[in-house]
Amino acid sequence: MRQAMIDWYREEQIHDLLDQGKRMPVNALERILEKAESAKGLEPLEAAALLQVEDPAVWDRVFAAAKRVKERIYGSRIVLFAPLYLSNYCVNSCTYCGYHCGSSIMRRKLTQEEIAEEVRALEAMGHKRLALETGEDPVNCPLEYVLESIKTIYSVRHGMGNIRRVNVNIAATTVEDYRRLKEVGIGTYILFQETYHRETYQRLHPAGPKHDFAWHLSAFDRAMEAGIDDVGAGVLFGLYDYRFEVIALLLHAAHLEEAFGVGPHTVSVPRLRPAHDVDRGQYPHLVSDETFKRIVAVFRLALPYTGIILSTRESAAFRQEVIELGVSQVSAGSCTGVGGYSEAQKDQAEDTAQFQVEDHRSPNEVLCQLCKDGYIPSFCTACYRQGRTGDRFMALAKSGEIGKVCAPNAILTFQEYLMDYAVGETRTVGEEQISLSVERLPEEIRDEVKQRLERIKQGERDLFY
Ligand code: SF4
Ligand code: SF4
Repeated sequence: MRQAMIDWYREEQIHDLLDQGKRMPVNALERILEKAESAKGLEPLEAAALLQVEDPAVWDRVFAAAKRVKERIYGSRIVLFAPLYLSNYCVNSCTYCGYHCGSSIMRRKLTQEEIAEEVRALEAMGHKRLALETGEDPVNCPLEYVLESIKTIYSVRHGMGNIRRVNVNIAATTVEDYRRLKEVGIGTYILFQETYHRETYQRLHPAGPKHDFAWHLSAFDRAMEAGIDDVGAGVLFGLYDYRFEVIALLLHAAHLEEAFGVGPHTVSVPRLRPAHDVDRGQYPHLVSDETFKRIVAVFRLALPYTGIILSTRESAAFRQEVIELGVSQVSAGSCTGVGGYSEAQKDQAEDTAQFQVEDHRSPNEVLCQLCKDGYIPSFCTACYRQGRTGDRFMALAKSGEIGKVCAPNAILTFQEYLMDYAVGETRTVGEEQISLSVERLPEEIRDEVKQRLERIKQGERDLFY
């Protein structure tokens, strides 16, 4: 059964695609770029060709194409979220992670009251969408604890705030467990493959349940079988050759599309960061800034309707550069330790951090800069709450109609943010950005959006399309 689920994965095929891509003639590259610009996506072979281009002038064109595709599909919207670490107990031995079982890091797990406290602090920052994170430990952090925590998170109301979507990043599990996660109303199920290269995977995960490459790689199949149709894929760049990883992820996406009618909802692009008990000198495949930009651009062109997530692992200045190449979601104000958002939990967060963050700005500062850069921050969670997930979401996205929903929802949710949480300059630049964005809306919905904005100013909340 396990083997069958990863029949799509053949390492020789990935190497073959990379070899063929390298030999692609210049006129074929022209055709690939034209196709990419029309937002039709790229086949793995076409992506393999782009990834191996050496001419900087061609890369300028790839970047320009990625920007245009992003602009066409996502407009100026950027969705915001924050991670919430519940527990750093872990029985796995991932060599690149500060939580590996042999690490001397302080172990901690939040109680339900502490989780509620953290959620109140996150709501006070304006967050509506969380990514829940835990290590894997069936004794200290069983699924029952995760399920109870999700219920707690959804139940907390602080002022005008509430969490409207909980995405979940927990270890690969069984169909039955995925069903239980689905029942408590998770948003996206996120699981990074870390590396798609089997030998590297097994070496970097020497012990623990995660050592089983096939079990990990087939997790989305089980999640989809359980009815979770929004899954979030990702690679930890720096563990193995990035070209191999990108092509493997595209093949994984193609497999899900073929088997379940829907590919990943999002792709995350974390890079290996310094962490407790982790020596980055041991990793020969670390990715430079320039290469990282190429990875993001190729993903944007290859999977135009899949969200790309950029975390606070990247610095504020670099995030500005990368966002325009195709990123659609960013985290803000993140704490990567257990607890750390509420005053009471702050002290222990640093001692329990999974890795170091580079962007230390508050959400208010991140939003202010996004507005200055011409983006409209969005706290929208409408699709999940309307049941527009999986293939229903993709059908709408590919029809081009989704833009008519996302843009007004970004405007409405950002207006809520400005009313309830914004401070200082963010208020002024935010209001300016809202006015500009309203004027850019299709005429047929503009007046209605203006009316809804008035209703929000009068105190109504959670209006969405
Ligand atoms: Fe545990 Fe996840 Fe860290 Fe591996 S990456 S040690 S599974 S928390
Ligand atoms: Fe995302 Fe749907 Fe909201 Fe658009 S309308 S931002 S796709 S949740």
